[in-house]
Amino acid sequence: MIISIIDDQQWLTTLTQVPAWTPLPLPALVVAPHPDDETLGAGALIATLRAQGIPVTVVAVTDGENAYDTSPEEREHLRRVREREQAEALQELGVRADSVHRLRLTDSGLMERQEELTRLLLGLARDGMQIIAPWSGDFHPDHMACAHAAESVANAKGLPLVSYFFWTWHRGTIDLLAGLPMGRFVPDAAALRAKSDALACHRSQLDHSSGEPILPDRLLGPARWPFEVFLQG
Ligand SMILES: [Zn+2]
Repeated sequence: MIISIIDDQQWLTTLTQVPAWTPLPLPALVVAPHPDDETLGAGALIATLRAQGIPVTVVAVTDGENAYDTSPEEREHLRRVREREQAEALQELGVRADSVHRLRLTDSGLMERQEELTRLLLGLARDGMQIIAPWSGDFHPDHMACAHAAESVANAKGLPLVSYFFWTWHRGTIDLLAGLPMGRFVPDAAALRAKSDALACHRSQLDHSSGEPILPDRLLGPARWPFEVFLQG
């Protein structure tokens, strides 16, 4: 079981002091290691960009098929379920279906595929874009691999990199973020509603027939905060 090192209220108290941040009005390439990361970490940002008519391309790196310890048949079933859930969630956030690129790399196997991942992201990055990806310290090897690949692409092409968080809120400490260039984005009500609707689409992560789901209620506090926090690299 994952134990939260510090609770939601402590994060809220600290993060409300983070300076306000305004999203860059640039087309975005959003890197999602697993279906749901885009929603949890940057759902309101994505919805805000789309509401402004700004193109958002989402790279679905894995299908999240290994979320639960189960049989190969059930993994294949979960892959299809999560692909559908992510498509629904992205629709709630305003992302066009033809702006979603599925890489189908192996869930929980990205550390070994970083070069390939970098090459694939490089093929999707365009001049004038911003890259939105997990933070390199986000406590999950797949998130870290995506972060490193995104950073390589941002550096190679001279693109701004915006990092989002998920596991940091549950496994990290406040000290860890001290001195980093953080920004707090306060979305409007419509964007927060879109994020909440998108989150509800990830049903396989919110409910599990045998045992605890990947996203039990106690891990959803940060996704319900009235702001999102990013790191501008
Ligand atoms: Zn993830």
